[in-house]
Amino acid sequence: MALPKKAKVVIVGGGIHGLSTAWKLSETYKNKGDVVVLEKKDTGAGASGIACGVIRNNYFQPAMRELMAHSVSVWESDAKAFRYNNVGYMQISPEIMHKDVAGIYAQQKAIGYDSTFIEGEKDCMKYMQGIFYDWQAKGITSVLHEKKGGYAYNVDSVKALEKKANANGVDVHKGIKVTGFKRGSNSNAITGVVTDHGTVECDQVVIGTGPWVRDFWNMLELPKTIDIKGKDGKMHEAAMWKYWFLQEGVLGVDQDLFKTNEGKLPPVIHVDTDAPLYSDRDQKLITDKLWGIYYKPDIEGLGVQGGTSPYIVKKHFDEVEVDPYAKESPEYQTTDEFADMWSSALAHCQKRFVGKSHLYRKGPSGGLGCMTPDAFPIFDRFFENVYMIADSNHGYKMIGVGHLVAQEILGQESKLLKPFRFDRYAKGELHPTSNSPFPWS
Ligand SMILES: Cc1cc2nc3c(=O)[nH]c(=O)nc-3n(C[C@H](O)[C@H](O)[C@H](O)COP(=O)(O)OP(=O)(O)OC[C@H]3O[C@@H](n4cnc5c(N)ncnc54)[C@H](O)[C@@H]3O)c2cc1C
Repeated sequence: MALPKKAKVVIVGGGIHGLSTAWKLSETYKNKGDVVVLEKKDTGAGASGIACGVIRNNYFQPAMRELMAHSVSVWESDAKAFRYNNVGYMQISPEIMHKDVAGIYAQQKAIGYDSTFIEGEKDCMKYMQGIFYDWQAKGITSVLHEKKGGYAYNVDSVKALEKKANANGVDVHKGIKVTGFKRGSNSNAITGVVTDHGTVECDQVVIGTGPWVRDFWNMLELPKTIDIKGKDGKMHEAAMWKYWFLQEGVLGVDQDLFKTNEGKLPPVIHVDTDAPLYSDRDQKLITDKLWGIYYKPDIEGLGVQGGTSPYIVKKHFDEVEVDPYAKESPEYQTTDEFADMWSSALAHCQKRFVGKSHLYRKGPSGGLGCMTPDAFPIFDRFFENVYMIADSNHGYKMIGVGHLVAQEILGQESKLLKPFRFDRYAKGELHPTSNSPFPWS
């Protein structure tokens, strides 16, 4: 397919955000070629294609919760095509998080998001053993059980979005690398997207490039540091981006091992706890600080898949080599230490995983995520006609963001996206933070 010379909207990135924006825009821009997607490799080649696929509402920040509730409705709109498994999601927490999670539950009730909340150590244990007979994690004092959400099949859902966009006349050009932008002579607006195969003139640009967002920020010559207004009323300088490495892996148990007492597919389990964690290999103490893990069935049937908190890459963001990405990265892979911690944490929670850590599947896994200064998304317009979807690695579950971005491009401001504007840093209008050990809760 030859690269066109012109389009109404050029979308860069064939991941969850680029393709869902393309799909929604193409319901209005109906002519073939009005909307084009430029993807340097293949659709699903980035973070969306390796995401664990977890879909949840459990966020401490009201604006994130409302956005997730909207996204869940998009997952539900075609669960079959997206291969969305509505098995639910459980946030299982220690006392230090009890109040935060109780607040989440209250607000879920207020927005009509179906969930159950269990409190007190005894009742939590009873509730968990009612689902998994072998539940044994102690010191848990609250369980938030979201009845919606669950997980979807990463690559399949991306391909389904591509198909929906294609059906409406969107052309997805693969193997096209964007290298820069062309500007107008008397305005700051972008008039064309420059690629290694030529330039595409356009009216609007959408950037949905996940961990590569830094490159686009640099191409647009946006600032490398920003000022954030703190609670003290003073401005504090911060680096614009930070890379995190997401640690995930698979325990190669028989897939039937991880079922509910009724023999059904289990909900996604997320446990945070301050109980000491001992190694399943040699019973040595791994940590006595707050730790957390999540797990669910592996979509390829290889066992149980999940992860723990990401770690911060200690390099200036410009020095981080994002390519080759994920499995192919020579530098960023999960370690044996992660394998020990995560497998032991599974055993800490459920007896069926005790003595199984040797089944951890060695090999490349995990991937980089590019975080904003406050680790929450930026959805905003720059230079009049460049829409940036910088999801700060929250985003596979956010399939509905593209729909709202499309609406904004078509002139209708979205209430749900408004709390994620870039000027929140300068105004000091930051999202509240929780006691969770994860940067994304
Ligand atoms: C290991 C891991 C697990 C995760 N698990 C979850 C999860 O369970 N649930 C969840 O909600 N989120 C999860 N996330 C986060 C989520 O995957 C991302 O937030 C989301 O997929 C980002 O989507 P995107 O469309 O912005 O970017 P991507 O999916 O990364 O797509 C960007 C695309 O842009 C292309 N591109 C880059 N540069 C160029 C260029 N110069 N020219 C043309 N194309 C270019 C890339 O090839 C890529 O295909 C996880 C992330 C990681 C790394």
